[in-house]
Amino acid sequence: QAKEQGKNTFRFYTADMETELSTKIRLEMDLYQALKQEELFIHYQPITSTESDEISGMEALLRWEHPKLGLISPAEFIPIAEQTGLIHTIGEWVLRSACMQSKQWQKQGHLLIKVAVNLSPVQLKHPTIVESVQNILQESELPPEWLELEITESTIMENKRDVVKTLKQIRRLGVSIAIDDFGNGYSSLNALKRLPIDTLKIDRTLVQNLLEDGVDEVILGAVFDMAEKMNLTVVAEGIETEEQYNYLKHQYCQYVQGFLFSQPLNSEDFLKLYSGEK
Ligand code: C2E
Ligand code: MG
Ligand code: MG
Ligand code: MG
Repeated sequence: QAKEQGKNTFRFYTADMETELSTKIRLEMDLYQALKQEELFIHYQPITSTESDEISGMEALLRWEHPKLGLISPAEFIPIAEQTGLIHTIGEWVLRSACMQSKQWQKQGHLLIKVAVNLSPVQLKHPTIVESVQNILQESELPPEWLELEITESTIMENKRDVVKTLKQIRRLGVSIAIDDFGNGYSSLNALKRLPIDTLKIDRTLVQNLLEDGVDEVILGAVFDMAEKMNLTVVAEGIETEEQYNYLKHQYCQYVQGFLFSQPLNSEDFLKLYSGEK
């Protein structure tokens, strides 16, 4: 009986492995079609000013509605896009769409806020990335000061010299640069000093243990001090409670983003939320 059970377990195990593998291959194949079939779209999450309590920015977050599997998380399909090189096409599409949407809202007099777009390390290393950003700005006619590109901390630290050079070129276009998920990696505060960046986005893990864990308060305090000295703008991510918000309002933290204010929303709902607030 034990032998039979063992067999069963083994069989289930392989079946699972096969399913997992074929899901990945299937997603990979489907992702090639996703753009063409208009299964990709963008959600916008508000970024709120701690001074005015008003929406002062937004982050563009990519979504994939798979025809059979439903909504798939970017955490799952962005790595596939990176491995296959599809990220270049998809990333350009996100940037173009977010810039065009922003420009349209500005033109119609709806809003005048910055849009933040995530850039994959793979995109950043592509030789024509600067040109590509420049072309999209021209095409969309979005003034560069309304665009911020988010790059994760680890991206910058990995291949520092080349990345710094590219970031400088992007900033010269008038676009600002944010370090995303800060506090999640290994870089020292000191390493930030020489980087061409404008904004620090503090990772939600640092924020979420905040009021339970005195250690994080000390770490965050050091981050705020340094950001102030370096004249960086600070955005805290993953704000879910009033308590967290009240705490951050009294720190060197100009902006907050999180479910307390809103989930990421489709364009229509984002505009409704924004307009309702005015
Ligand atoms: P991210 O850039 O750090 O984006 C913030 C993530 O935190 C989003 O997850 C957002 O929905 C989530 N979030 C916001 N507020 C809260 C909160 O209060 N609590 C919690 N628990 N989560 C919150 P999402 O949309 O699933 O995206 C995950 C990651 O996928 C992003 O992290 C980003 O690294 C990547 N990503 C999304 N869109 C793109 C894109 O267009 N290009 C690239 N390269 N990466 C993208
Ligand atoms: Mg981001
Ligand atoms: Mg983040
Ligand atoms: Mg993240």
